[in-house]
Amino acid sequence: MSKILIMHTGGTIGMTKTADGYKPDGAYFKKAVFHMDSLKALGMPEWDFMETDPLLDSSQISVSEWNAIGSLIAENYHIYDGFVILHGTDTMAYTASALSFMLKGLNKPVILTGSQIPLCETRSDGRDNLITSMIIAGTQKVKEVCIYFGGLLLRGNRTMKYSADGMQAFVSPNYPPLATAGISIQYNENAFLKHRADHFECRLFEDVPIGVIKVFPGIPFELFDALISEKMKGIVIEAFGSGNIPEKGLLPILQKARRNNVVITVCSQCPQSTVDMSTYEAGSILRKAGAVSGRDMTSEAAVTKLYYLFSVYDDIDRIKFNMERDIRGEMIQKEDI
Ligand code: ASP
Repeated sequence: MSKILIMHTGGTIGMTKTADGYKPDGAYFKKAVFHMDSLKALGMPEWDFMETDPLLDSSQISVSEWNAIGSLIAENYHIYDGFVILHGTDTMAYTASALSFMLKGLNKPVILTGSQIPLCETRSDGRDNLITSMIIAGTQKVKEVCIYFGGLLLRGNRTMKYSADGMQAFVSPNYPPLATAGISIQYNENAFLKHRADHFECRLFEDVPIGVIKVFPGIPFELFDALISEKMKGIVIEAFGSGNIPEKGLLPILQKARRNNVVITVCSQCPQSTVDMSTYEAGSILRKAGAVSGRDMTSEAAVTKLYYLFSVYDDIDRIKFNMERDIRGEMIQKEDI
């Protein structure tokens, strides 16, 4: 029988109402989990429960919390067959992406889940999200970092939060679900991660300065000049369509970025798309100025990949090379474009 570690980090699932709004309530949640009969039903994996301190609304999560979660998985890697991480939905796609890069050679399920309605409420979606995540982790079929939410198991570094109201909070616009949970759980084995490093290791992130610029018609690029300092390491530009960008005022910014070794990665504002900077003249200026293509990566994956690569490599060319390479299933392979 598999043994799974449930790790509570905060988020709506474990919150209760206070005068100031919903807030993580560790004591309540722990009791509720230990009283959940379905978690002890026949056929369910064995489990242990732990919580991180402090429990957070996920809007407060940053590099140090990613490192703490990654370290806890690494410390317990050989004790458990899988991990279910309970997390707020607001930044779950970032944490899932970050962990996918941090946990190199991962060969066990790491499933992030949470809920839109707290477990303390009658209509909570947290119960099914937790129980189904446990069942999926227990089978050990999917050995990568995933998000399970609202009936879908998605590759973590392909997801983005799509809805703050609906029970299906996450989408994976450029990659199919790894499993669909209806009356039975249907696994899409063809979509599982095929390539992984031989040995598991946890590569913690450095808190390097990263920026995101979403372009819009009339964007005053000159005002972003101060952002492209020597301190800045990487910038994700969310461009239009397949990687197009307004040219006015852009070139000096790109030249400054190149001088300061800032890695500019171009993603698209269209969730469902692949950046190809050679399609239009308005995109090729980026390529010529040394920007790299994020292809079909989400902005969440691009940001966390920059953190990862700047934490493991010093050489800028190596970082740029790897930004355009699929390392954890986060982007389409170059040959497939
Ligand atoms: N603000 C909450 C959080 O991300 C929202 C949620 O969990 O759904 O922690």
